[in-house]
Parts: sequence; structure tokens; C-alpha cells
Amino acid sequence: MRFDIITIFPELLASVFSGGVVKKALEKKQLEVWVHDLRDFAHGRHRQVDDRPFGGGEGMVFKPEPIFEAVESIRQSSQSLVYLLSPQGVRFDSGLAQRLACAPQVVLICGRYEGVDERVSRNLVDGELSIGDYVLTGGEPAAWVVIDAVARFVPGVVGKEGSVRQDSFYSGLLDHPHYTRPRSFRGMKVPKVLFSGDHAKIRAWRRKKALEKTLALRPDLLERQKLTAENKKILGSFTKKGKDNEPH
Ligand code: SAM
Repeated sequence: MRFDIITIFPELLASVFSGGVVKKALEKKQLEVWVHDLRDFAHGRHRQVDDRPFGGGEGMVFKPEPIFEAVESIRQSSQSLVYLLSPQGVRFDSGLAQRLACAPQVVLICGRYEGVDERVSRNLVDGELSIGDYVLTGGEPAAWVVIDAVARFVPGVVGKEGSVRQDSFYSGLLDHPHYTRPRSFRGMKVPKVLFSGDHAKIRAWRRKKALEKTLALRPDLLERQKLTAENKKILGSFTKKGKDNEPH
């Protein structure tokens, strides 16, 4: 799968893909990330990519021409998806990350200043993506977030695909708690079931704890999904007994 980022600050993205799982995936050619300088698509002596807003007001706005020309030269096929990063966009989440991972190419446009001429949003892109209800100074951190999250769903990128399925949000729940050595740290003990060697018991404990955490921290996730009979039964047992905090 191929990602293309259009930015006026390519140097900001130079190092972010140079470590970890994404770096390995780039080396194995499971992923490609191309960073394009928007100024390369601008005309004139000054390669101007922005201008003052019509109607007056603060700040600068990205002009449409360089962005249209950049996308037209970068987009590889009709199946490529092009998104503008914007706080006004659809909220980027795990489900969207999974869907984007099925595209052969995702092009991400990073805005700056007051944003981007509205004709880009209306007439060029497939959509706008927001990484949350706050305003960044530019789309570059959002591009990194989107690529990192989508990459995890590209087959082969995360060595053990089972771990992606077990992670938070994949099945509509938060992940279960994790523990490692030592067994006891400053009096805090690891739940005994995890040393039992009984895999069915461990699976049941993990499911219960994932449900318990989701109910405590993100009850909205439970409200949004059709629960399985088994999960309903486990959740019902919490309300009967009260919150189950015991770790052992
Ligand atoms: N005037 C714009 C508004 O209020 O909607 C904000 C512009 S922001 C300062 C500059 C650029 O940062 C945006 O064009 C966008 O590319 C990026 N950006 C800011 N917040 C973002 C967010 N939450 N998600 C994705 N991109 C964001």
C-alpha cells in the first residue's frame, strides 16, 4: 500500500517513519510513503502556495491551483483515496483506519495557517479527516497519526495479526490489561490466573477484564454495538455484583 503526503514542510516528516514497525514495513516494501513538497507544484518565481483570504481577515489560505496539480500528478488510479486533513473532517477512528488499509493508495493533504481554499474540500478530495476536536498548527502530525494507524491494518505489517485483532477498538472493546515480570512489584501482584497455564481460563479472564475496562472507561463503545449473548451475560454479572476490582 502506498501513502502520499502533500505538505509545505516535508522536513517535518523526514524522521517519523524511520523507526519501529512502519520502518520495517517500508524496508520490506509492504508500505511506501512518499512525501511531496507542495511548493514543487506552485508556479511563479516565488512558488507561492498561499494567499490572503477574500473578504479580509487574519492569516493566509492555501491556494487551490498547487493542490489540484499535486493531486492530479500523484493520484495513481481511480481507486486511490484523497483526503484533506482538517479539524472539520470526519473523526478518524479504528474502523476508518481498517477501511483505508484496503485502498492501494491514500493521498493526504496537510493544511497550514487558516486552512485550504474551500474548492479543494468541495471539488477535489474524497473527504476530510480529523484526528480530534482540537486545532493543530498543521496537518503533518495528523498525517503521521493516520498513516501509523492505517499501516497496522495492512496485512503483514504487524507481525502477529492476532495482536491487532485483540487491541482496543477492533472488536468494539478496549484491550484487556497486560502484565509482565516481576510477579510482584512493590506489593502489587499479577493476577494468579495468568500463571495458571489454563488457556481457556486466561481467555475468559481477559474477556471479562476487557468488558470491565470498557464499561468503566468507554461505556459509549458498549452502547454503540450489538453485544453477543456471552458479553451481555458477563456485563450483567458486573451490575449484579457491583464493580469487580479484584485483580487475583
Ligand atoms: N481555520 C481552520 C479551522 O478552524 O477549521 C484551522 C486551520 S489549522 C490552524 C491548519 C491545518 O492544520 C488545517 O488545514 C489542517 O490541515 C490541520 N489540522 C488542524 N487540526 C486538525 C485536526 N484536528 N485534524 C486534522 N488536521 C488538522
